[in-house]
Amino acid sequence: MQDLSSLWQAVLDKIELTVSNVSFVMWFKPLKIVDFVDNKKLIVATNSTSAKNQILRNYFEHLSKAAKDIFGDNIEIEVFDQNEEIEYIKVNGEKSKEKEVEITKNPFNSKYTFDNFVVGKSNQFVYAAARAVAEHPGEKFNPLFIYGGVGLGKTHLLHAIGNYLKDYNSNLKVKYVTCEQFANDYIESLGSNSNNKNKEILEFRTKYRNLDVLMVDDIQFISKKTSTQEEFFHTFNELYQNNKQIIITSDRPPKDIETLAERLRSRFTSGLIQDIQSPDLETRIAILRKKCTLEKYSIDDEAIYYVAERINTNIRELEGMLSKVYFLATLSNKQVATKEDAMEAFSGQQEEEKNEGISADDIIDTVCKYFDITRQDIVGKKKSKEVVEPRMIAVYLICEYLEIPLISIGKMFGGRDYTTIIHSRDKITDELKTSHKIQSIVSDIKKMLIGG
Ligand code: ADP
Ligand code: MG
Repeated sequence: MQDLSSLWQAVLDKIELTVSNVSFVMWFKPLKIVDFVDNKKLIVATNSTSAKNQILRNYFEHLSKAAKDIFGDNIEIEVFDQNEEIEYIKVNGEKSKEKEVEITKNPFNSKYTFDNFVVGKSNQFVYAAARAVAEHPGEKFNPLFIYGGVGLGKTHLLHAIGNYLKDYNSNLKVKYVTCEQFANDYIESLGSNSNNKNKEILEFRTKYRNLDVLMVDDIQFISKKTSTQEEFFHTFNELYQNNKQIIITSDRPPKDIETLAERLRSRFTSGLIQDIQSPDLETRIAILRKKCTLEKYSIDDEAIYYVAERINTNIRELEGMLSKVYFLATLSNKQVATKEDAMEAFSGQQEEEKNEGISADDIIDTVCKYFDITRQDIVGKKKSKEVVEPRMIAVYLICEYLEIPLISIGKMFGGRDYTTIIHSRDKITDELKTSHKIQSIVSDIKKMLIGG
């Protein structure tokens, strides 16, 4: 492993030369090399889903190029989020039939504990519910359904429950999956070739239906695909009937998950549905202080206050900004980061965002790419939801980034009237104030625009 880590360091050194300092510190530095399989596949773990998305969407080329320089052209790279349960199986030895199988990761992130979760007005009820469920699984609130915007601590709480159970109730069978993992797992069990098919489905069922605690993260991604929902429905019932604990998270309440079948929706409603709100200033400050202690950052109160005042919805962004402040201070060899560093961190962000080189075409292309729709769709006449929202977001971004007359923007979008353009711009501006979904879409697209 010694060798591998020095090779990996060489990859990082190369990347550092090709991306901005901030991108490097935010996205690449936290990467961990997990394994190098069969001398050709690099397994790399990120410390968050957003980091994984960033790497895959915007920086994969950088990563891949640097890795090829060091490891050779045939290298493959697989990127994991270390918070996901990595059922990554390490095979030792030379193609022996007797595979030595080892699960390399504890499924729960050791930083995501109840102790590290700062409780305030915005999350006190959800905290209490999660805690009760961890202390008395299957007895208190079942299912526990937690919903709230991006970066407000849902995944943290699930892991906290997992960590708690591991410490105090280690004989229980506990499983954490994202909705996507559940679906993939199920589909894989179906996809195997003929002979073993039943066996694999049985294995899948044995795995899920014999659990004591099942946690499914981000259920809003459940597909309409009836077979997966059906399987989940039966898993749910089996566990529920046996008083096994089920915990589900989502970015919105069950009634707003369009793809959710009615019978599952009503199952979810039978337990406790608890929301998690954006933290108030006091809580944000407490979260930042906690983070400083955990990460051993020295950052003074004024700087913390400055950051806490400016980012008020997404705790992940709050933490990201704190790392940036700390990083800027270390760049100038300061022992303690001050308000100056905090101000610089934000001004750097604005510069990046107001990037000169972006054109209306870039924006339209990026929005299309993000939503996986075509240019004809976005500038055309279609009125379905799948294109209307992207269209409005594209208009909004063009208005924000570029000083183009509204009439000209209207022309770009198939000769629409300028009042329509104003309407789209204002609608997204409004939604950005309240909708976490729109906030994260817009911020992802912006990152793509800057990074790409
Ligand atoms: P979500 O799953 O709701 O999108 P996460 O659980 O991934 O959000 O949280 C995002 C980040 O914010 C994580 O690093 C998490 O540790 C941190 N975080 C969220 N809420 C709190 C809190 N109350 N106290 C401390 N850290 C928090
Ligand atoms: Mg999450």
